[in-house]
Amino acid sequence: MAKKKLSARAARRAGDRETVKLAQDLERLWKLGPGGTPERPIVLASASQVEVTARGTRCPLCQGELRVEEHAAETVAGSRLRVAHVRCVACGSRRAIWFRLATEMLN
Ligand SMILES: [Zn+2]
Repeated sequence: MAKKKLSARAARRAGDRETVKLAQDLERLWKLGPGGTPERPIVLASASQVEVTARGTRCPLCQGELRVEEHAAETVAGSRLRVAHVRCVACGSRRAIWFRLATEMLN
């Protein structure tokens, strides 16, 4: 393969790596924030707020709007949690937003 082609491809790869790295950093930050993991659920007063809150959240990658695809109840490490599976309408990235209901905390 010609050296010129290799370097062009290498440059493109470097650019991709930067983009991927930025996305990974944003994902990492997202997971450190409220609702990013089951260990850091957003506490809500009632289940009716789950989808409203999820829809009000913005995509951490592109600030696009999130559409709720599924709202489920799950038990993680003994805690009753709600999870909203959302998809960004702009970039298509999927993520889960975790919630804990204040009314279920004592159960
Ligand atoms: Zn997005």
